[in-house]
Amino acid sequence: MYLPEEIRKDFPILSREVYGRPLVYLDNAATTQKPRCVVEAIMDEYYSVNANVHRGVHFLSQQATDLHEAARERVRTFLNARSTGEILFTRGTTEGLNLVAYSFGEAFLSEGDEVILTAMEHHSNIVPWQILRERKGIVLKVVPVDETGQLDMNKYERLFTPRTKLVCTTHISNVLGTVNPIRRMAKTAHSNGAFILVDAAQSVPHTQVDVQETDCDFLTFSGHKIYGPTGIGVLYGKESLLDRMPPYQGGGEMISRVTFEKTTYERLPYKFEAGTPDYVGSHALSVALDYVEKTGMENIAAHEHKLLQYATERMTHIPGLRIYGETADKGAVISFNIDGIHPMDLGTLLDRLGIAIRTGHHCAQPLMQRFGVEGMARASFALYNTLSEVDAFADGLERVRKMF
Ligand code: PLP
Repeated sequence: MYLPEEIRKDFPILSREVYGRPLVYLDNAATTQKPRCVVEAIMDEYYSVNANVHRGVHFLSQQATDLHEAARERVRTFLNARSTGEILFTRGTTEGLNLVAYSFGEAFLSEGDEVILTAMEHHSNIVPWQILRERKGIVLKVVPVDETGQLDMNKYERLFTPRTKLVCTTHISNVLGTVNPIRRMAKTAHSNGAFILVDAAQSVPHTQVDVQETDCDFLTFSGHKIYGPTGIGVLYGKESLLDRMPPYQGGGEMISRVTFEKTTYERLPYKFEAGTPDYVGSHALSVALDYVEKTGMENIAAHEHKLLQYATERMTHIPGLRIYGETADKGAVISFNIDGIHPMDLGTLLDRLGIAIRTGHHCAQPLMQRFGVEGMARASFALYNTLSEVDAFADGLERVRKMF
């Protein structure tokens, strides 16, 4: 039996008050709160293990290295990657996407080559490709989104040409909640001789992702969105591709031998990990993944689905409220606007009731343009949210609407 009230006890921050009211935290797509075990893992490592990894013969360095490499193995099993050489630690999703844009771009793309994006990408999966376009003269093509928030798959299939080299897509939209058919998209990309990069920032916290089953070539996510710390993330890449890609940054850790004439690079994954890694963060991330798996991905998904359905049901009774993203199989986010109320005002007034939502363009300005709005309000759910919090949120919306 899934008991969110019990789960909430693991998250100290959830019992605090804001403006004298119980905190209702519905900004989980931006970042999640951390369970005690993750915070304690960070503290414990600094208190009793801390030493720089990989370089030391001494006891602490070896222990810290063991924890860091065990975390890599933990991520490997979490994603079902073939080997730890395919698991690169990064600062987060954004760095993973930039790494692929730079390094895949260097190895595989030249002027006139085409990269397909979707209209629902986060800026992190748009801007690096525009920077590459400036550098190399590649061509960007965009899969449109329909009124319900789905990708136009017919259009997608027609965008491919012999010059198409890569598809970059989000797995779950941080705005619409749409779950994109990445397995099908990968199949189409591969049958056209192209590769696929999946932004899994919004999917790994909510659903099982298996890189072999989906057959994606790259996949990236952020620790802080899956109950782990900030500053650590993961890029998965197929070894056959990573092997052919140049390093993203140079420095310590990533070299095999340096002379002033020539430097040779380390094997995977270290070739892509210049400088001291966030070895405390990697360990804490592995503790977060343990926490999620212990709770059960299917249980989490079912609980969040219930919250989403209930919130949608309550919101559809609010006059003038429009929800963006209406697909049946949605991730745990609801973006919306209410006629005559600026989303910023909505967010500010809800905040005074202790309810934290996000407002603005959600780092997806092209998608805002697609729906003809400047911004949207967004509530997003996590494993610890409750139906009574959904009630508090919907009651808050009613109250704010009556004020206008
Ligand atoms: N991609 C998506 C779909 C996101 O929702 C986010 C964050 O909101 C990112 C990328 C960027 O993640 P980060 O800021 O952790 O690098």
